[in-house]
Amino acid sequence: MSRFWSPVVHGLTPYVPGEQPKLANLVKLNTNENPYPPSPRVLDAIRTELGNDADRLKLYPDPTGTQLKAAVARHFDVAPEWVFVGNSSDEVLAHTFQALLKHDAPLLFPDITYSFYPVYCGLYGIDFEALPLDEQFAIRVDDYLSRGADKVGGVIFPNPNAPTGRLLALDEIARLAEGLPDSPIVIDEAYVDFGGLDAIPTAVALVKRHPNVLVTQTLSKSRSLAGLRVGFAIGQPALIEALTRVKDSFNSYPLDRLALVGASAALDDEAYFEQTRRQVIASRETLSNDLAGLGFEVLPSAANFVFARHPAHDAAALAAALRERSIIVRHFKAARIDQFLRITLGTDAQCALLVQALKDILA
Ligand SMILES: *Cc1c(COP(=O)(O)O)cnc(C)c1O
Repeated sequence: MSRFWSPVVHGLTPYVPGEQPKLANLVKLNTNENPYPPSPRVLDAIRTELGNDADRLKLYPDPTGTQLKAAVARHFDVAPEWVFVGNSSDEVLAHTFQALLKHDAPLLFPDITYSFYPVYCGLYGIDFEALPLDEQFAIRVDDYLSRGADKVGGVIFPNPNAPTGRLLALDEIARLAEGLPDSPIVIDEAYVDFGGLDAIPTAVALVKRHPNVLVTQTLSKSRSLAGLRVGFAIGQPALIEALTRVKDSFNSYPLDRLALVGASAALDDEAYFEQTRRQVIASRETLSNDLAGLGFEVLPSAANFVFARHPAHDAAALAAALRERSIIVRHFKAARIDQFLRITLGTDAQCALLVQALKDILA
């Protein structure tokens, strides 16, 4: 507290990110990073960018991110005018809250979801209501529709949801977008690339038909680039223009030169992307089975983490016991989910260490 603070700062409840401990030899399964390195083409592109001309860093980067937008557009088969790029999807989401989700009627999102959403509402003064997930932690689209089309300022949720990992089917999202035609519907697809083996269930498939749907994605998870901070949004040009207006009223150069070339290279390496996302999906099926074998109840996950509880063991105690064995997972002290652990998929070797540690702890 300080008398120098603006009134809005006094009222903030900031987001608390998962910890990034400096310890060596940690099995780090707490913040949904990818266990595999990024495509080798990313490093090549960054080295080339630096090596071409040592003087290059003295110049501002491309304020529009044209090369990266083109790479996103190619990957999704949309026009570049349908793409917005930003310094992480958290930044893209922040701009989205300010540009599209602040209206007289409240913003709606699930009671159990990404805990950054209420933080942005606090920062931008957005009224919101959290609607309960059902008993199996699924989103009930009818709860949103029954509000009435003119009483919803907007809707946002991750798909798959976080931290549950549960996926809402695309036809349900289409039903929501159709039933609330005057409300922006934002689908935060941080984990969608882990949502299906042969087809990725992305709502980008809906943006052509639904002018109110905006999809956000990140390169932090499925592209192994959490350290580079790159995210993007896809929607019809009117939505993209709103984001660009906010961005150009905030920071004209959100992506630095290295991020722009590295992210473009990652998006262009489709073969590497397919290989790593399939490996993570395969590991998820193995870990889910192993945890079930230890008596855990594991929610069906479409993400790069699993959400699980043990009927006979307190989740906080389990997390503490794992930590003593140098394995960190995420535990949320929140209503309805305080008996769950969110466990990020590691390599198969890391998952095996986790399963062995849990066996020892439960014994
Ligand atoms: C990780 C995550 C993000 C943020 O991704 P960044 O691009 O690293 O900021 C956004 N939404 C959800 C649901 C996430 O889990």
